[in-house]
Amino acid sequence: MKRNLLVDAGRIAADIDALAAITEPDRPYTRRAFTPLFLEGRRHLEVCFQDAGLQTHIDSSGNLIGRRPGREPGRGTLMLGSHSDTVPEGGRFDGIAGVVAALEVARTIADRGITLRHDLEIVDFLAEEVSIFGVSCIGSRGMAGVMPQEWLTRQADGLTLEEGLAMVGGDPALSAARSDIRAFLELHIEQGPVLEEARLDIGVVTAIAGITRIEVIVLGRADHAGTTPMNGRLDALSAAARLVLSIERLGKELATGPGHFAATVGEFEIEPNAANVVPSRVRMLLDVRAELRADIDQFRTRLAEAVNAVAQETGVAIAEPRVVSDNTATPMNPLVIDALEAACQTTGASHRRMASGAGHDAAFMARICPAGMVFIPCAGGRSHAPEEWADNADITLGAAVLLEALLRLDDELATET
Ligand SMILES: [Zn+2]
Repeated sequence: MKRNLLVDAGRIAADIDALAAITEPDRPYTRRAFTPLFLEGRRHLEVCFQDAGLQTHIDSSGNLIGRRPGREPGRGTLMLGSHSDTVPEGGRFDGIAGVVAALEVARTIADRGITLRHDLEIVDFLAEEVSIFGVSCIGSRGMAGVMPQEWLTRQADGLTLEEGLAMVGGDPALSAARSDIRAFLELHIEQGPVLEEARLDIGVVTAIAGITRIEVIVLGRADHAGTTPMNGRLDALSAAARLVLSIERLGKELATGPGHFAATVGEFEIEPNAANVVPSRVRMLLDVRAELRADIDQFRTRLAEAVNAVAQETGVAIAEPRVVSDNTATPMNPLVIDALEAACQTTGASHRRMASGAGHDAAFMARICPAGMVFIPCAGGRSHAPEEWADNADITLGAAVLLEALLRLDDELATET
């Protein structure tokens, strides 16, 4: 049973529509970070933030921030937000729903004349999606003080990232980790089908899965495709194909465990890639997402076993799988999780706990403060596509949960110390 919500569904719908209209007209919905359209979206949001009574500025990492001072100076900041940039031909809700929900929370607080004990900040993080500079989460990494300095010299469209940051109003020379943030909350569309299929209103995120990328190189022997007998070949592709199927089986098995798990062979190159030559070399890159470290460890052990088995069976050499990058999962903060679950109860939102298989700004914010995320359902789990859809009622209920959790944390964190 949903209670009467304080947040306003009509305003949320209008905000989503207004941002959706700021797109490359021929490829909706495209508003990539560092482009003129992105800056236009930002100007629109800045006005909305100011209309909500927030003091706005761009921080050193290029994030748009709207601030409402609290009544107990020095208590620190509670922050809500997400990102307004999109992938090319992306959707109307990924990131945007979170910025708009945060804005609606700030408006509701202003309308009701509420002054929090903590300062409140609403944030639109810069470039959460992979940007023209080939890197993601630029704003949240900057706010957490973990953006690699060497990224500043990356180039795209005649700009360095350093110049790009200056263009949006940031100042990379000044960026340092924020130390005043007492909690961060982000609402986001699920980008998967779980909530919709279970007919649940809210997913309370327990952890953002780690991403491990593993390269596997299979070395066979190039031979004439017409004359080399079927039993006398060292075909790198047929060996690699067996391995791909083993990886899929292993991924499905680990996915039935208690933690979120997914393994994908997303990149696959074959040499010489000619019709009349037995393939001599395959390179594949695996993307492995896990909530639990034990699952990654088990995956790596069993991948090594599968590699040995396929090498023995086929006679083809397979190099030991090489870990190219390895980021562990980021747990969300238990206090924030509890506040979000309590908020679901108060607002009458049905909910479950779940891990996020996708990366989010909240993963970087978790490095500097207690962080948590609210997922809302999206149609068919589709995202990063124009068909992406979230119902206004679901965003509105999500915003109500954010507001409720914010009010709880404002009290709990203040009485804690
Ligand atoms: Zn997003």
